[in-house]
Amino acid sequence: MKEKQICYICNRECENWIEILGSYVCRDCEQEMINEDASELKMEYYRSRLKSLWRNNIS
Ligand SMILES: [Zn+2]
Repeated sequence: MKEKQICYICNRECENWIEILGSYVCRDCEQEMINEDASELKMEYYRSRLKSLWRNNIS
C-alpha cells in the first residue's frame, strides 16, 4: 500500500495519488481535471496549480 501524501491541488491527505513532477495529486483531483463537466472556474484553478508546479520545477 502506498504512503499517504498531501495532494498538491486540494491539500487533503490522500491514499490514492499520482505523482506529477515530484508532487502528488489525488485521484479525485485527477478525475476532476479530465472531467469535461467540471466548471470553468474549477478548471481555471487546476490549470493555475499545474502551471505553478511547472514553474517550481523549472527554477
Ligand atoms: Zn486532491
